[in-house]
Parts: sequence; structure tokens; C-alpha cells
Amino acid sequence: MPHHASRRRFIRNLSLGLGATALSPALSAFVRSSPPGRKLGIALVGLGSYATNELAPAFGFTRNCYLAGIVTGTPAKEKIWSDKYHIPARNIYNYQNFDSVTDNPDIDIIYVVLPVFLHKEFTIRAAKAGKHVISEKPMAITVSDCAEMIDACKKANRLLSIGYRLHFEPYTMEMMRLGQQKVFGEIKSIDCSNGFVWGGDPNAWRLKKALAGGGGLMDMGVYTIQGARYVTGEEPLYVTAREEKTKPELFKEVDETVFYQLEFPHGILANGRSSYNANWNDLKVTARQGWFELTEAYRYNGMKGATSNGPMRFDPDVNQQALQMDDFASCVLQNKKSRVAGEEGLKDLKVVEAIYKSIASGKKEKI
Ligand code: NAD
Repeated sequence: MPHHASRRRFIRNLSLGLGATALSPALSAFVRSSPPGRKLGIALVGLGSYATNELAPAFGFTRNCYLAGIVTGTPAKEKIWSDKYHIPARNIYNYQNFDSVTDNPDIDIIYVVLPVFLHKEFTIRAAKAGKHVISEKPMAITVSDCAEMIDACKKANRLLSIGYRLHFEPYTMEMMRLGQQKVFGEIKSIDCSNGFVWGGDPNAWRLKKALAGGGGLMDMGVYTIQGARYVTGEEPLYVTAREEKTKPELFKEVDETVFYQLEFPHGILANGRSSYNANWNDLKVTARQGWFELTEAYRYNGMKGATSNGPMRFDPDVNQQALQMDDFASCVLQNKKSRVAGEEGLKDLKVVEAIYKSIASGKKEKI
């Protein structure tokens, strides 16, 4: 990138970071005299609810990256986003001309925020265009799609990560520490549940198997699988699962409520539940010498937790998305694998596939 372009970008980032406030004379002098910063440019692909309401505002809190571009299939969104986030026309793409992003030095990272069935296509196209990639969760419809995504990024020598924001959230990180370091002794069992009561559009992509891959399990259950995996730091070996459906019309194509039990190598059992028809949000661990739990476990904010020694006290409202994107940007800058790399997403899909297999067979299945 030419020096003046990167400098312009640095100055713009700095002033955006300060909101609408005019730069003070001292800061203006600093901006004029300081070397260009190295904030990486991210382009969001798919400007639906998560991109609009969570990711775009999160850039107000990032240090290592900024919202450089957008990729949208809806022309009307172009002006709205470019006005609101000062995105230049050269950084706006649609799904057809997206591949020409390869020639755009402003954009370092592509963040795929599309329905699940499109994660693979856009991840591979982004990698081929020479860009690092973040794909939203669940990573893809199948394990083999996940493997193709990982492979494409490896071949292109680009980093891949999954939008697992909770790995950067303090309550969750404490659960990882307490579990993996056996602070309360060996873990005996885990209970993890995540769900909400579907009140949305009955024709939404999330209810179509081909577009979403599954229902509550793919969307909400992935968090509980993650929970069981990051608390133990181990990979489950077997699963037994069953499904319950009370609204067969609405959940014609996808699962409504799923109950599953994971068996870990050293005998730990994790009882998980996912639902599009129940309000659940917890991660509870019983260990030999105590317990630890989050009773608000997977939310964007308002996290809540305790141990057998008393309440956990962290900031419950950190900007998880900003921390996650900043971490990936710093991985790119240091050429370091993300701690939520593609392999993490693939491991969860392996569990998901085994759960669906067990529901179909009615038996315990190997993962
Ligand atoms: P959404 O329905 O609000 O947005 C989807 C976007 O994709 C829309 O802009 C839509 O126009 C576009 N799109 C392109 N092709 C489409 C097609 N064929 N059918 C339907 N939409 C199409 O969904 P969302 O809630 O923003 O979710 C997007 C992704 O982000 C999903 O993978 C979801 O699982 C993930 N997500 C992650 C989190 C998290 O906490 N990490 C939270 C919410 C959503």
C-alpha cells in the first residue's frame, strides 16, 4: 500500500475512534507527526442482523482493525453503510464482483456473516483472493465442508478463524481456567443448555435445512458443545442424543429441541440441551471439590457466574466482538494461528454430526 494511503487510513481510524469529536490541537499535531498505524481492514460479507447490530458497532472499540469494506447483495444497503461508516465506493462489493477484492490493499480480512450454507463458498473465495478469513459459527453445514475451508486457507497461506467471541470474554475464560487447571479437582459432570423461543419469521433461512444445516442444535447447541469442550479441554468420544418436537409445522425441516450426552475420555459426562423452543443459557460444572457455573453463559453481555466459593466478579459487558476481531487482527500481524482457528469449528461440527446420527439411530454413536 502506498505510504500516503496507509497514513490516510491511520488518520481516519484515529478520528473515527474518537467519534464525532474534533481532534484537539495536541492530538492533531500527534497525528501529523506520528508514523502510520497498522490497523487491518476488515470487510463484512452479509449485512444482516449480526453484522448490523453487533459487528459493525464493535469496530468503535477495536484497536487493531477497522471496518474497511462491505459485501452485500442488497444495493440499498450500500449507501446506508457507506454514509454511516465512511466506507469509500472502492471498498463496496456485491456477491458477483466480490473476487476482485484481491486487488484491494485496504482489505486484509474478510468476515463471512452469511447464512451457514454460504460460509464455505465465501471463505474459499476470500482465501483465493488472498485474504485472511473469519467465518461465523456454525462453521459450515458438514465436517467435510469445514475441511475444505481449512484446506483452501492453508493452500492460500491465509489464516482462518471462527466467530467464537466467547473465547475472549472474561467469565468464559475463567470457566476454561477452572476446568482445564482442575482448580476444584477432577470434573465429574457438566450441564450446558442454550436456547430461545422462536418468535421470528416462519420462512427464515434458519428453519430451512439446506440453508442452516439444522435447527436449534446448529445455531444454539454449538455454544453448549463449545462449553463442554473448553471447560474440559478434551474432545468427547461418544454421544447419545434424542430430539423432542412440539411444533412440527414450524420446525418441519430442522430440529426444535435436542438433548445429548457426551462422554469424555476420563469419564466426564456432559449433558447438553439446545432449543428453538425454550429459554436456556447456562454452563454448570460439578467437580470433586466444588462447582463453578455461568447462569448467563453465551450472551453478548450481561454474563453472570459463580463458584462454590462465591460470585465471579469480572466485567460482564466487555465488547466480545471487538476483542475477538482484534485478536484475529493481531494473529494476522504476527502470522500466528488463532486460538479459534478453523479446526475448532470443525471439531464442533464432528460432534453435531454424531448427535444427528445418534438421534437417527437411537443409539450411542462414536464421535
Ligand atoms: P440474518 O438473516 O440477519 O442475515 C443474513 C444475511 O445474509 C442477510 O443480510 C441476507 O440478506 C444475506 N443473505 C445472502 N444470501 C442469502 C440467502 N440465500 N438467504 C438468506 N439470506 C441471505 O442472519 P444473522 O443473524 O446475521 O446470521 C448470520 C450468520 O452469523 C450466521 O452464520 C449466524 O449463525 C451467525 N451469527 C453469529 C452470532 C455470534 O454470536 N457469533 C450471532 C448471530 C448470528
